[in-house]
Amino acid sequence: MSYERTDDIPGADGGDGRQEPAPIEPEAIRILTDPNSWLSGGTAGSSSTSTETRAYSDDFRLSEGSRVAVIGGGPAGSLFAQFLLKTLNRTGTSIELDIFEPRNFDFCGPAGCNHCGGVVSESLVQLLAAEGIVLPDETVQRGIDSYVMHMDVGSVRIDTPLQEKRIAAVYRGHGPKNSEISNIPGFDQHLLQRATRLGANLRPQMVTSVDFTTGRPELTLADGRSENYDLLVIASGLNSALLSMVEQTGCGFVRPKAAKSFVAEFKLGADAVERHLGNSMHVFLLDLPHLQFAALIPKGDYVTLVMLGDKVDEALVNAFLNAEEVRKCFPERRPPPNICQCFPRLNVSQARRPYADRLIFIGDSGVARLYKDGIGSAYRTAKAAANCVSLYGFSSSDLEKHYWPACRKIIIDNLMGKCVFGVCHLIQKLAFARRSVLRMTEQEQNDANVVPRMSSVLWDVFTGSAPYKEVFLRTLHPVFIARLMWNLCAANLRIPTGKKPEVTAT
Ligand SMILES: Cc1cc2nc3c(=O)[nH]c(=O)nc-3n(C[C@H](O)[C@H](O)[C@H](O)COP(=O)(O)OP(=O)(O)OC[C@H]3O[C@@H](n4cnc5c(N)ncnc54)[C@H](O)[C@@H]3O)c2cc1C
Repeated sequence: MSYERTDDIPGADGGDGRQEPAPIEPEAIRILTDPNSWLSGGTAGSSSTSTETRAYSDDFRLSEGSRVAVIGGGPAGSLFAQFLLKTLNRTGTSIELDIFEPRNFDFCGPAGCNHCGGVVSESLVQLLAAEGIVLPDETVQRGIDSYVMHMDVGSVRIDTPLQEKRIAAVYRGHGPKNSEISNIPGFDQHLLQRATRLGANLRPQMVTSVDFTTGRPELTLADGRSENYDLLVIASGLNSALLSMVEQTGCGFVRPKAAKSFVAEFKLGADAVERHLGNSMHVFLLDLPHLQFAALIPKGDYVTLVMLGDKVDEALVNAFLNAEEVRKCFPERRPPPNICQCFPRLNVSQARRPYADRLIFIGDSGVARLYKDGIGSAYRTAKAAANCVSLYGFSSSDLEKHYWPACRKIIIDNLMGKCVFGVCHLIQKLAFARRSVLRMTEQEQNDANVVPRMSSVLWDVFTGSAPYKEVFLRTLHPVFIARLMWNLCAANLRIPTGKKPEVTAT
């Protein structure tokens, strides 16, 4: 199973191999007067609070003049808008698509921040380019060429196993509150601008409530006005109060479960960043309770710290920053006070039933990959949702047939991910296992003739560049198991590897 090719994106052919798109009917417009129930999927009327006389399509298909609301202008919302508008442009169908996004990505600090490490696989950058979404060079910091894995038993550098497995750090928005505004276009801003260039209307407003009692989605905005739409796409991320509101409607949607994570920025200056971290991302497998993964990501003058786990709190952050393996990555072995920090939430499970008649949840609001590649999941769910809406329709059964398979594929892979992270957690806990992983990785990195089985597994776990199922299956390979067993004995009996490691073990 691979997500890397466009033709492999679930939902691109409807998930059932069918290629025939249903025709889009440009003439299907009518003034709605009969307020049937949204839950029964009826064709329904306008809101009593709406100030406009509105025209609606009378079935679950988009047609000339249909109105689509997208709540959230993060990667999922912007990509959905682009994919949908591009397809409809080809069929000559003109719709009204509003993206509601109060955040101003031009601002520094929380007002423009998307709380993210910004690590993406190069293959995603290329996939976007194949869609015509070419990111400005300054937005994609391609310099990251390796990982350094730190454990209490030593550290090892892991080089990119293959060219297509390279990773990049995207510049998602302006930096911390007091940082200088740079001219670099942020990733989220760039995607949003592309959507507006294709015809989306950017509405810089917060949506305060969503109501379906008239049979169609009715949004209330922060200024108290209400508006009706034919289709509502919720791409409001994980933290939006709207998710709980929709849960209350009884449409079957249950919001994803979330856990607290931690992000902080340290300003070291470009020279110090280069000296202490180089072009590598530094990941830590430390035996600290509740910590699943932590990384230091070099970004120009700054270093971003990301900590993921099932319960990241201040005590854990302090314990982490005081660990010797972390301190040695900073000048004078002392992390300076950070200039910006937050505890954003991260998906640890998927939404239940992320669709209903005239309603779709995409990106973090719906289904995302466990711990990694949130931007990649935003892309996949946005693409599958736009394909379903433009080619098949947006009734609950259309979405079940042509959108849900894309979500299901991610969910099944996440189950494998849980096994993979479970094994990582075990390694974190057991010193003899850490020594064996370190030894095996060192050998692979220092001998070009050895197939880098452990290195490629670790690379894909840290970057999320491959589906978890693929990673899991690789660890079941007999040669992998045999070499792991040998290294388990050799490392714990202190048999030398015979080659000098790239990063000296402690
Ligand atoms: C600590 C941390 C580190 C991460 N690191 C990475 C990483 O390295 N690589 C990676 O790929 N992913 C990473 N992610 C995940 C990634 O940030 C998300 O998966 C991705 O941003 C999801 O995109 P989205 O569009 O679904 O949601 P978001 O990016 O959250 O966008 C949602 C948007 O909706 C808007 N919104 C919310 N409510 C309303 C409302 N009521 N009205 C109008 N607008 C609203 C918000 O302003 C926001 O801009 C990380 C996440 C965390 C927490």
